[in-house]
Amino acid sequence: MSFSSEAKVELCRLPINRICCAAAEAYGALLYCNTFSAKEIKIVTENRAFASRLIKLFNRAFEIEFDQIQGMEVLDGKAVLSITSKDKLTVIFSAYGYDADKIVAHHINLGVLEEEHCRIAFLRGAFLSGGSVTAPEKRYHLELVTDHFNVNGEVYSILLEMGFSPRDTSRGGNYIIYFKSSEAIEDFLTMIGAPVSAMSIMSAKIEKELRNSVNRRVNCDAANVDKIVDAAQEQIDAINKLGLESLPEKLRTVAEARLQHPEASLRELAGLVQPPVTKSCLNHRLRKLVSMAENN
Ligand SMILES: [Zn+2]
Repeated sequence: MSFSSEAKVELCRLPINRICCAAAEAYGALLYCNTFSAKEIKIVTENRAFASRLIKLFNRAFEIEFDQIQGMEVLDGKAVLSITSKDKLTVIFSAYGYDADKIVAHHINLGVLEEEHCRIAFLRGAFLSGGSVTAPEKRYHLELVTDHFNVNGEVYSILLEMGFSPRDTSRGGNYIIYFKSSEAIEDFLTMIGAPVSAMSIMSAKIEKELRNSVNRRVNCDAANVDKIVDAAQEQIDAINKLGLESLPEKLRTVAEARLQHPEASLRELAGLVQPPVTKSCLNHRLRKLVSMAENN
């Protein structure tokens, strides 16, 4: 199951309590569904949990059943729920303050969404019907797609008022609101009732950050190793050029230790010199060897 479907299944587990919220959730679903006109309501979904929830929502909000429900028994493929009966359509349209005969373009009737619980239910319906969220391992993207221009702008304003910073665009006659930031997606999913999905985004992000920091660490260690190897090579060249025998005692012990342990770091090498010396003393003597070779 896709990440999007999992989030929707999680949302569909929420109980349907208040009538106001059932109507608001159905409203979001209708404004983001395939067809919501005075002649027909048609909702097409691949998500069986959402299809079952729609039946309950319409029952709770309007005491109405769909005229036709197709494809529910097939596990994959689409379920289609539709209403064409004039009486039922009138009940639904009037619940949202519309005159079914006069409607030209949909606007959100904000009167239906005065309470915050209703606005949240509305957004949940919109997401269930016209939304999707990308698996966080791939990228951070959540979008709501509708073919109603005004509705898109009005949902944008609702989200702004709720403290979100959505973006919007259009694509092939559809209007899209989307989020790109993982925090916004987490907050949105938590708000509409999918905290488990929000948590998966959070843990995917932590895993990604951890992996990046380990990679940085490894690269950094590799760079250090390169530096040690380069410096040691320079010292070994210098010692070979000068010849061990020609070196005074203190420099010779250091030079011998370096020849025997070409890959040791300064700290390691300081302990290997007989008798052991401090790191800064060792560093001083090695520099001296290199400069003697340069001036030789
Ligand atoms: Zn409510």
